[in-house]
Amino acid sequence: MKRITTLLCASLIAQSISAQTFIQAYKDRADMVTQTNITTNLQDFGNFGIKKTGSQANTNTLNWIKNKYLAYGYTASQITESPFTYGSVTSKNLIITKTGTLYPNKYVIICGHFDTINGPGVNDNGSGTSIILEAARILQNVPTEYSIKFIHFSGEEQGLIGSSHYVNNVVYQNGIRKLDIKLVFNLDQVGGVKGNNNNTVYCDEDQGGLSSNNAASAVVTQQLRNCTALYSPLQTAVDPAADTDYIPFERKGEIITGFFERIRSTFPHSSKDTFANVDPVYVYNIGKATVGALQHFATASTTVAVNKSASQNGLENVKLYPNPANNILNIELPDKTANFSFEITNVSGRTLLKVNNETKINVSTLERGVYVGILKVGDQTLVKNILIER
Ligand SMILES: [Zn+2]
Repeated sequence: MKRITTLLCASLIAQSISAQTFIQAYKDRADMVTQTNITTNLQDFGNFGIKKTGSQANTNTLNWIKNKYLAYGYTASQITESPFTYGSVTSKNLIITKTGTLYPNKYVIICGHFDTINGPGVNDNGSGTSIILEAARILQNVPTEYSIKFIHFSGEEQGLIGSSHYVNNVVYQNGIRKLDIKLVFNLDQVGGVKGNNNNTVYCDEDQGGLSSNNAASAVVTQQLRNCTALYSPLQTAVDPAADTDYIPFERKGEIITGFFERIRSTFPHSSKDTFANVDPVYVYNIGKATVGALQHFATASTTVAVNKSASQNGLENVKLYPNPANNILNIELPDKTANFSFEITNVSGRTLLKVNNETKINVSTLERGVYVGILKVGDQTLVKNILIER
């Protein structure tokens, strides 16, 4: 009997581990998160200032996030701006959809809010925003069996307004569930506290609210812990899910999990929530854990070879000159026969000029200042700041 029991236990353990074995391709992609990208994302996010829901800074940040997705190669048809009103103000959630190969109608949602209150919010929640951007960049051309929605919510700081609007008006319409969600994976306040040994991340488990979805949350939260151990140097601890954008989903019975910093910063919701006060290395490490876990949740391809040089944007050798420009901006592509489009927008994302296959762009109508140039060749996109000086 003892022997049989032992065998049974061994097979049960083998079963639970088999879903979570180390996958080299997942590790290679987790390692494509770069400290430079994380640091730049955090700093750029901070530079937009206080991104209060309804403010111009909030809109500018949304447009910055949107332009990142375009630069990573996502197409406009994958990007949805979803407006909502809150009292007298209007704001928008940003939703990017990547279609799955085997289950195109079942979605893994990875989300985090980008609105802030009282300060630049580099921890709360520039940290989660920066990581979601890196995950989206790395997985852009990686097939996943399940569809993924990358969602950047606004209105979180006013009481989960943006995520509530999404759940009650997009996921549910007239009381009918329109979106089949596999799970919701939220990142909020994962910046750590500078100067501390930030070596552990909280994995949020649904321990309250509806009881019907708690066991399923425990399962995916354990998977999140396993992925963190497999694909990052961090340790994990479990805390009860609360007070962030997965809660409106939880209330509808969806399966939720998330990351939250283990050593809790006191700076969020103050002017001191700046780049100087977060730990960019901690954000980088949580980024690796996130890319590992997201691949597991969405069942990313394990067979596609990860070729780091091939996955780099082939448009890096394009020349845009002179920059700063005065009247004429020249475009020089390595392949002179390629069809391309070129667009100039202001920093808020409004299109000011768009041409096809023109290598000498007349920019004399633009006032001096900073603009965004978006060059597209096939499915590749290059986004560069263009300065006009005269
Ligand atoms: Zn937050």
